Amino acid sequence: MSFVTDAKIVIEALEAYYRQSISREKPVIDQPALERLVTDLELAASVKAGGLSGQRLSQFIGKYLSSTTRLHHPAYLAHQVAVPHPSGALGSLIDGFTNNPMSIYEMGPGAAGIEYFVVNWLLERVGWGPAPLNPRDAGSQEYGGGVLTHGGSLANLTALVAARSRLVPGIWQEGNPPDLALLAPAECHYSIGRAAGILGIGRRGIYPLDVDEQGRILPDRLPAAERRLRADGRRAIALVANACSTPVGIYDPLQEIGEFCHERNIWFHVDGAHGASALLSKQHRHLLRGVELADSLTWDAHKLMRTPNLCAALLVRDHRTLDHAFEQEASYLFHEKDQPGFDFIHRQMECTKAGLGLRLFLVLAALGERGLAEYIEHQFQVTMEAYAYIQGLPDFECAVRPQSNILCFRFQGNDELQLRVRSGLIARGNFYLSTTVFQGRRYLRAVFMNPETSLEDIKGLIHEIRSLAAKG
Ligand SMILES: *Cc1c(COP(=O)(O)O)cnc(C)c1O
Repeated sequence: MSFVTDAKIVIEALEAYYRQSISREKPVIDQPALERLVTDLELAASVKAGGLSGQRLSQFIGKYLSSTTRLHHPAYLAHQVAVPHPSGALGSLIDGFTNNPMSIYEMGPGAAGIEYFVVNWLLERVGWGPAPLNPRDAGSQEYGGGVLTHGGSLANLTALVAARSRLVPGIWQEGNPPDLALLAPAECHYSIGRAAGILGIGRRGIYPLDVDEQGRILPDRLPAAERRLRADGRRAIALVANACSTPVGIYDPLQEIGEFCHERNIWFHVDGAHGASALLSKQHRHLLRGVELADSLTWDAHKLMRTPNLCAALLVRDHRTLDHAFEQEASYLFHEKDQPGFDFIHRQMECTKAGLGLRLFLVLAALGERGLAEYIEHQFQVTMEAYAYIQGLPDFECAVRPQSNILCFRFQGNDELQLRVRSGLIARGNFYLSTTVFQGRRYLRAVFMNPETSLEDIKGLIHEIRSLAAKG
């Protein structure tokens, strides 16, 4: 079969792509008009002709790669998506080839075994008990649980579904009672609001938590928020905190919030999609102090763990809450079958699911635990260096002192100027940033995902911004 020849073509093209990206030879972003793209890629002709292989495949790959956004480029600073480790990409390839829908053990023992392993590995990083190999052997011992999902948004939804099932055991028969609500800060990720909508709670059912000027939850104000909710005759299915927040990367005080939730018996969900990876570093894990008090934690590997899209984890302190998330009487799915392993299907929204664990596992096994911790420490360090540098400039200001690898700053001038600068950078193609609105003002937002990005890149960026702003 031509698989090996074609694979060689693809791998060599990717290798060249990587070199051109890391050396800045090609722009970090280049967005041809859709119309031109569809024509240039000769999509319709290829589909008609069939047999795309060999030389023609090589041409196609070349064109395709030239119309990608280059995450491996050191000036890639835009979104919180991993610059994938090549070993993780091999995981995606192996998974695509074998295509085992591992949600039930017999359809992918290897992939299910790896999911079991990585979920336990993550649980231990949080400080929660790993699941025993055979749940029947656990006795009365308490242990955590988890599942990998296609993204953090789905993990957040799953967490809130589990929280609701715990509060309202009859939900799967009776439907929603009218008094359900959610406690969450305004700065939470939009997937939380969306989950509330899907759960039938609605935006009006989200009671915003008071925060400080950086958007951090104020623990002293939690009792008042709960009183407001109770005064309206509502019950909280959960309280959501950020670790860290999406716009500026600030961590909520999990210990204090966790103690409050524990005392009031409110499900505590920590959205650590981006920032939970700080747990891997001895130097930074204090940012999540108290996370072990949570009931659930969302943690994306495709953000700060160098893992290709997608690989997110939803972890719970008590595995039973997740086992009963989607149905109160779900245990039949689980241990009744006489089989050598266990199924994940009852813990997740997906029916068919990719073998997501492999892409994370191969990164972990390539870098080692220490290597991954060093990566995170390096990214946080470069972010601090960039912050110190920008703070020292007379014509720039930063939104907050960063706690993670997210840095928001603005050039002197109005909101419109920040947007114009960003568009200018994108048009030139040598830097790629996002923007965010924080405290009512527009900021440029740099996320340091790429291990090759250095302070020199930031100095170059500042130079570019000044030149763009001067052009008027
Ligand atoms: C990225 C992010 C999400 C969404 O995760 P996806 O994997 O993109 O679905 C949710 N919450 C926070 C805090 C995030 O940073």
